[in-house]
Formats: sequence, C-alpha cells, structure tokens
Amino acid sequence: MRSRPVLAAAAVAVAAGGLLVGLYTPAAQAAGACTVDYTVNQWSSGFTADVKLTNTGPAVTSWALTWNFAGDQRVSSGWNAQVAQSGRTVTASSQGWNGPLATGASASFGFQATFSGTNATPTDFALNGVSCSGDAPPSTPPSSTPSSTPPSTPPSTPPTSNPPPPTGCSGASCDDFENQAAGAPGGNWAVTYPDCQGAGTATVDKSVAHSGTTSLRVNGAAGYCNHVFVRNAAILGAAGNVVHVRYWVRHTTALPTAHITMVALRDANDGNRDLRFGGQNGALQWNRGSDDATLPEQSPNGVAQSRPLPTGSWNCVEFKVDGTNGTMETWLNGTSVPGLLQDGVPTHDIDGQWLNRTYRPALTDLKLGWESYGEGADTLWYDDVAVGSSRHGC
Ligand code: CA
Repeated sequence: MRSRPVLAAAAVAVAAGGLLVGLYTPAAQAAGACTVDYTVNQWSSGFTADVKLTNTGPAVTSWALTWNFAGDQRVSSGWNAQVAQSGRTVTASSQGWNGPLATGASASFGFQATFSGTNATPTDFALNGVSCSGDAPPSTPPSSTPSSTPPSTPPSTPPTSNPPPPTGCSGASCDDFENQAAGAPGGNWAVTYPDCQGAGTATVDKSVAHSGTTSLRVNGAAGYCNHVFVRNAAILGAAGNVVHVRYWVRHTTALPTAHITMVALRDANDGNRDLRFGGQNGALQWNRGSDDATLPEQSPNGVAQSRPLPTGSWNCVEFKVDGTNGTMETWLNGTSVPGLLQDGVPTHDIDGQWLNRTYRPALTDLKLGWESYGEGADTLWYDDVAVGSSRHGC
C-alpha cells in the first residue's frame, strides 16, 4: 500500500518507429482522483491512444475522463468509451458495462485521432471533474518564471520506419516468408482472383517486413473486380476444430466506410462460403459470406466496440474460431476487442445478428489479401503468419 494516494500520471511519448509507450509522471502531492496510462502509437498524420484509467478516489458508478490537447489533435473515433471533442477539450465517457469503478479499479479505452506538428501528451486529466493530479484547477501560469526547460522538440534521432523487434515465428505452422523469392508467391501460397481479375496484385516483397527482410505485399484496389488474395490451403491443417491464427499486418489507408475484406477463410460447413475478416464504418469487422451477418452489428454502439486498424505501423492480429461451439474471439495487439467477441450468447449490437442461426464453422483455407465491394483501396503487408490450436501471442 502506498502511504499517499497515487499521484497524477501523464504519459510521455517517445518516438521509436511509431511505437510510443506511456510513462508515469508524478506531479502534485495532493490527493488525486485517478492515474492515467496514455500509450500512443503514431504515424505522420495520426495516432491511436490506449488509455488506462485507474480510479484512486471514491468508487464511482460511471466516469467521464476529460483532458485538453495542446495542439490540433482531432479525435475521429473511439472504442470502449464515448469519446467526444469540443475545441481542444476531449471527454471520454464510460459505457454501461464499464462505468462502475471501485477505488483502485481500472478501465481501458482507446481512440484514433489526426494531428499535425507535434503530438504532446495531455497533462490535465480529470475524472468526473476532479483533477487526477490533485492540483487546483488550472490557473494563469506564472509569467515571471523563465522557461528553463527546453521547448518540446522532436527526438534528436529521427523516427525510422523500422518495425518493432521481430517476434517469434517458429514451428512448421508459422510462415515468415523468408524462404520466398521476390515476386509471385510460391510454396503453399498461391494468388487467387475471386470472381474476376483486375488491378489488385499480391507479391512477395523484399523491401518491407515485420521479421527479416520479406513479407507479402497486397496492392488492393477499389471496385468489385479487383479482388486479390494469396491462398494457403495447407496451413490450417494442424489446427483441428479450434483454429487460432496470428499474423502481423501493416496497412496504409484507414479502413473505409464501405465494407472490405482482408482475410477470408473457406467454411466447409457453410457451403464453402467464406468467413471474412475486414472492416466497415472505419472499424474491424467479421462478415459471414453466406448471409452477410456482421460482427459487431453495424449500429453506432456496435461499431464503437470494435477498433480501427492503425495505419503505417505493424499490428498484431489474432483470432480464434472454435468449430466445436461456434465461438470467436479477436485480439488486436494483444487486447481482446469487445465488438469482435462472439461468445455464443446473443448480445445486441455485437453478436445478436451472428447468432440468428447455429454456427459451427469448419475452416479449410486461409486467404490474405484485399477485397473491396465498391469503395476502399489500400496497400498492405502481411508477415509472420502463425496457425495453431491455441494462441500464439504477438
Ligand atoms: Ca518476414
């Protein structure tokens, strides 16, 4: 136990290949209402922030965390909270299921935003109107104090485009593409153009990679005929009825409003139609090809419980499809996404539509690529694809 209440926390962002980590920064010594971990993953014109709020004051039945941006940051979407912005002031409000917070309890949420210039970390978090630092409300800064601290400047070493350190891709069921030559995919991977062939292309790329020097590059184009996938009909063989897939993906353009598919898996128990993982309304989404059911449901509340796929950085996607009971779970960078959890119990806004009928998938292939049905183009890279009967991790 601490002898004093936990003090304010703000996070400091340090650019390193776009991966930024939050740090605690004790501030004042008065009792504060909360601590905040603020972890940023940023690219040239935008970022996502994962925010962990810990209540260090009395228990609350709902929460609103507020802060002010110092720059021109603009929130475009949020998840696990209703995130609204007015001017520079942002208010993140709890949702029904994560509102109650006992003393010491935490809730996590996130948001995506745009910015230009610098992306300073907020320092004035307040929980339900009470400053997290315990400071008095902001007052006019003392004008007589010369600024002895240097102004915020970019890191002296320029951010590089290097990906995070490679993670394990061991075992026969993990493919890092390192044994492939540039150009047309080979081995168990073959390019397919469902329906008709157009501008979409898929190649082995030696210039961008998560591990090593090699990845799979997909140039996805808008328009129905530009579908392109690289298909592997052998990789699911070792998984059995409970399929776990982990892959790393780096994409370029934010998910469009229109429906797109990035990963498709043929389902022998659904007329060989595909189970499709992609996006809609700017957030990740599952779609069942046979009846167009979506997970989450595409209501505002449903979409808010999914997540956008960050652009310009490598992101770890994991999913589980359990053919024995029909359940599914999806993780983005190690965190389970509420809107992409299909737990077998119909929940409005999430898996109510999906569970309108019995679902017992038997998946027989894995296809990585890009499938638009009208709008939405992207360039993306896949690497370190692991398949098994349990989670592989990131
Ligand atoms: Ca690789």
